[in-house]
Amino acid sequence: MDATAERQRVALVTGGSRGIGRAVCLALAERGVAVAVNYVHREDAAREVVREIEAKGGKAEAFSGDVSDPVQAEALVERVVERFGRLDILVNNAGITRDTLLLRMKEDDWDAVLNTNLKGAFHCIKAAVRPMMKQRFGRIVNITSVVALMGNPGQANYAAAKAGLIGLTKTAAREFASRQITVNAVAPGLIETDMTASMGEDAIRSLRERIPLGRPGRPEEVAEAVCFLVSDAAGYITGHVLHVDGGMAM
Ligand code: NAP
Repeated sequence: MDATAERQRVALVTGGSRGIGRAVCLALAERGVAVAVNYVHREDAAREVVREIEAKGGKAEAFSGDVSDPVQAEALVERVVERFGRLDILVNNAGITRDTLLLRMKEDDWDAVLNTNLKGAFHCIKAAVRPMMKQRFGRIVNITSVVALMGNPGQANYAAAKAGLIGLTKTAAREFASRQITVNAVAPGLIETDMTASMGEDAIRSLRERIPLGRPGRPEEVAEAVCFLVSDAAGYITGHVLHVDGGMAM
């Protein structure tokens, strides 16, 4: 067992307050990881996640911070390292949608989605690899989407950001491999969260019809994939995109 494995590992999950991020926080805590639960608006939801973890004997704390802002993203990572003394795992999960057809899409819709979903991960990775390089250990997982591989009408901004995340994942995996930092992506399909609850019924129906397993996924099913990629068992996997999509994008 290496020295890092003897200490309690520390994870930062961006957008850990709701949906997939919340499920990732709970699943990591169940495996004994101390969790920094990031949120941008919903402090109440982040605190509830912390309470749930603490009720089961785990360690967690809520951290505000808008990952699309480079100053806030850097400060977020610094505060987590200050509080927990290290950072082993970064899950870039924070994400938004601003769906509309390309011809109607405003520059502001494009920028908001790219800045949060892609640039946010860039800011957090830059800040997080500093402590990870010193530790010579790190696990980074970026939450992309099947939409990055398939495209989706009304989601040009979102698909572009998520496709960019895959390029970012593979490049970071190559750059940091010599420091024993792995960088992987998880590509969920249609998962039941607040994000998909805001989609129209027709859009949901047409997506459901394209799922070979015949049902939407649960946030917990995505969290299991993240937990595997950050585990010791996945130490020889880097630059990979793991689909959790009921077969949608095969
Ligand atoms: P969600 O339920 O809408 O939750 C989004 C989370 O991101 C919230 O915790 C939110 O914080 C946080 N967030 C948003 N903007 C942020 C910012 N600028 N800085 C920090 N945190 C921010 O979404 P979800 O469905 O769980 O999605 C999570 C990730 O999975 C996203 O990257 C999404 O693109 C991806 N994904 C989702 C699906 C799906 O079907 N649901 C499919 C593929 C990929 P607050 O609570 O403070 O607002």
